[in-house]
Formats: sequence, structure tokens, C-alpha cells
Amino acid sequence: MAAAPTVLELKAPADGLATLGHITGLGRAAVVNLLEEIRVNLAKLDGCPGPHEFEVYTPPDGIIVATCGRCGGTIGMVELGWYRRGMEDGPLVAKLAARR
Ligand SMILES: [Zn+2]
Repeated sequence: MAAAPTVLELKAPADGLATLGHITGLGRAAVVNLLEEIRVNLAKLDGCPGPHEFEVYTPPDGIIVATCGRCGGTIGMVELGWYRRGMEDGPLVAKLAARR
């Protein structure tokens, strides 16, 4: 099997997915699969009737995430913190905007 080309050996026009696969060591197919997983997850989150009902979950890989019980969408703990902050601040922001 031929060695994978270095980033500088990749032919133009550049294949961004191949480049990402090379840089990460995952390979092009794995990068495509990851992007598809992200697209599906964002579609779930965007299509959620809301509000999201996140529950914290620790999958076998050990990376703690929060999964919405309504839509099945998953977010990281940083995003969960900002989501909760937005839910708390949203009514206050609307109240302040109504005063103007
Ligand atoms: Zn949801």
C-alpha cells in the first residue's frame, strides 16, 4: 500500500476533506463520517420543538455530553452552560427590551 501523500503533495484543486483526514490521521472517509454525524445532530437540534430537555450523559468514550430527551440532539458541557445561561437571561433581556 502506497504511503498517504503529505499535505504538500496533495494535488490542486485541494481536497479539503482529504487534507483534514491527513492532518488528523483519521483519513478522508472518517472525516466525511464525522461531518455527517455533525450534520445529523444539528438537524435534530434545529428541528426540536423545544425547549430542549438536556440530561448529562457519560458515554463509554468518557467525554461528557448532554442529550436532549425531546430531539436526541447532543451538545457538549460548554454549550450546555451557555444554553442554560440563555434560558435564564432570555426573559430578562426581553423585559429590558420592552422598556425601550
Ligand atoms: Zn431538543
